[in-house]
Amino acid sequence: MSIKQQLYFALIAACAACGGSSDSGGAGQRDAADTTIQAATPIPAAQQPPAPAGADTMTPNELGRIPVLEYHLIGDQEGRWQREHGQFRKDLELLYARGYRPITAAEYVDGRIDLPRGVSPVVFTFDDASPGQFRYTEQNGQLVIDPNSAVGIWLDFAKRHSDWKNKAVWCMLSGAEAGRSFFGNKDIEGQKTEWRHRKVKFLADQGFELCNHTLWHAQLSKYPDDFVQEQIARLQLAVDSAVPGYRIRTFALPLGVWPKNRGLAEKGSWTDPKTGKTTTYHHDVILEVAGGPARSPHDPQFNGLSTNRVQVYLNELEKTLNYLDKSGTRYVSDGDPGTVAKKNAP
Ligand SMILES: [Zn+2]
Repeated sequence: MSIKQQLYFALIAACAACGGSSDSGGAGQRDAADTTIQAATPIPAAQQPPAPAGADTMTPNELGRIPVLEYHLIGDQEGRWQREHGQFRKDLELLYARGYRPITAAEYVDGRIDLPRGVSPVVFTFDDASPGQFRYTEQNGQLVIDPNSAVGIWLDFAKRHSDWKNKAVWCMLSGAEAGRSFFGNKDIEGQKTEWRHRKVKFLADQGFELCNHTLWHAQLSKYPDDFVQEQIARLQLAVDSAVPGYRIRTFALPLGVWPKNRGLAEKGSWTDPKTGKTTTYHHDVILEVAGGPARSPHDPQFNGLSTNRVQVYLNELEKTLNYLDKSGTRYVSDGDPGTVAKKNAP
């Protein structure tokens, strides 16, 4: 086991999200219909920053590596598994200035990377669905997105940068404890249970990608096959209750640990003994917890079913971007989605 994995396990051991719950957050929850969602503060008029410095001089390299970023808690303090919200804002600014634009995991695995010449893709993933990622506050009877939650920061940034699309991946739990249940429930951190499905639907409506992180974050290697499939299928069912018909393509392994039967992370099925209804799932992307920048989907050794990620804490993001530039391994688009540009060896 790597140091990173050991640290991750230490975090999870201290994390109440890992406790079990049988609440699937299933159908039947209704959101308040008489509230509206709005940004907490007026967004200033669009101010387009300059084009990425040096984009016109970047040599296209569509066999290069792509950072798939991994975020956990977003909060008031910086920590090993928490990004301080001001730092998260700076992450967006840093990536933008250095010529990165977000794509979804689905676009990544499909090789649908439609970016201007000289620009690089980045995939944002958020694990565990905690309130700091997506928090509502109530103001004068209206639901307002907390501007310091990840969604609030993202939407504000996207409003000011027209070429920054709502392409992030939310790897959610639907029945975990400590508020890790579709971004908060039971008044944990002020989040009401009835807001949960509304949040999930809002993300889908805004163009974000929804991702399966299981029902309550069980370490899948410890359990039999039917339990593994139930954990995955029940998250999918809960998402279907919020966004009927939504097809989940991306799965993040809890703790980065594979089930004994690895194939069950990709596809499987579970029959609810109460209803007799069978739910099947089939993923195209499986996210690991570490490993560094991921291979290009055009790389002959690409395997979307084991996609490496970069954990973002302290200055890891900047170090990763510097490494990609220095090593000449950064994916750089040629501006033509129909061709794959290969950079000559430096
Ligand atoms: Zn997790």
